[in-house]
Amino acid sequence: MIPVTKTFLPPQEEYQAVLSRAWDAGWITNRGELVKELEEKLKSYLEVPNIIATTNGTLPLQIAIKALGLTGEIITTPFSYVATTSSIVWENCKPVFVDIHPDYFTIDESRIEAAITESTSGILATHVFGNPCNVEAIEKIANKHNLKVIYDGAHSFGVTYKGSSIFNFGDVSTCSFHATKIFHSGEGGAIFCSDPNLFQKLYFHHNFGHDGPDKFKGIGINAKMSELQAALGLTVFAYIESLLNGRKKVFQYYNEHLFKEKRLRLLKIRYGAKLNYSYFPIIFENEEVCLKVKLRLEYNEIFPRRYFYPSLNLMEYAVGGSCPIAESYSSQILCLPVYQDLSVESQEIIIAIIKEVLNE
Ligand SMILES: *Cc1c(COP(=O)(O)O)cnc(C)c1O
Repeated sequence: MIPVTKTFLPPQEEYQAVLSRAWDAGWITNRGELVKELEEKLKSYLEVPNIIATTNGTLPLQIAIKALGLTGEIITTPFSYVATTSSIVWENCKPVFVDIHPDYFTIDESRIEAAITESTSGILATHVFGNPCNVEAIEKIANKHNLKVIYDGAHSFGVTYKGSSIFNFGDVSTCSFHATKIFHSGEGGAIFCSDPNLFQKLYFHHNFGHDGPDKFKGIGINAKMSELQAALGLTVFAYIESLLNGRKKVFQYYNEHLFKEKRLRLLKIRYGAKLNYSYFPIIFENEEVCLKVKLRLEYNEIFPRRYFYPSLNLMEYAVGGSCPIAESYSSQILCLPVYQDLSVESQEIIIAIIKEVLNE
């Protein structure tokens, strides 16, 4: 069986060894030494000024919306995981969908201004598949219209743009360390923000507003990462280079063998970006071919996923406008299996099946 991705499980003894530090300290949550160590390691690895490790990658989106005081309408992408949209609705804001760029699959910055109204307070965009949004154009629009920018960087661990971590862009950026993501702690995530005052606010928000044992600074929620998660994160982090290199090899092999297929559209990597090669999306000419390939792969015990389906503007709680590109891509896309130890033989089978269906 070949799944779309396979969670990297480090040797259990290594996890045990890190975990025993929490046992020795008698401290398994509330920002213990392991969470702090993970934060320090990630901060220097990613070259970001600040980080808060969190219990998942969804609460950071909600906390960012809250901390930035966003209200009314938030301009967002229809092509992402559902958490991007649901966080907006959960925070009592209205998602306003702007269609995606046909080459980069990220929000189409040239359509953003037309969607701005008097009630627009911010932009929440996703670096989908780790491909950066047009951060420069978005920053310009945001400054001109006095909007805040949040980037859902759930797919973007290790991605850089023009040499800087992609997490350094926007007012707030987030990441997910979910088991399916390239760097993971089982469940987990992070908040990034370079403005020290806003960072403080985000920090208090993620821990009930605590400013010491019996002192509080504003409202908060519980988004703390536990020591158990941090122990897994630290254990996995030791393998990060091999995880990145493994996925890159898989990505490049698919690319080499599929880029000439005229009937497939592949993701165009934004100029200046260094990806983490975590996903290999392919878009077919129509849904029928897409589903036919999916079935044929499944028949061979290979399980690609329809990332991301459905287009988020079609969610019943978020209905808004039509986004023809996102809607058609969502129904015609498959993400092929990518994980560090996927064999070349498996990739050959996958590529052969795709070509076989395309040639029928
Ligand atoms: C995975 C993901 C999330 C949510 O992260 P969790 O850690 O599962 O809460 C948010 N946005 C996108 C785009 C994702 O892929």
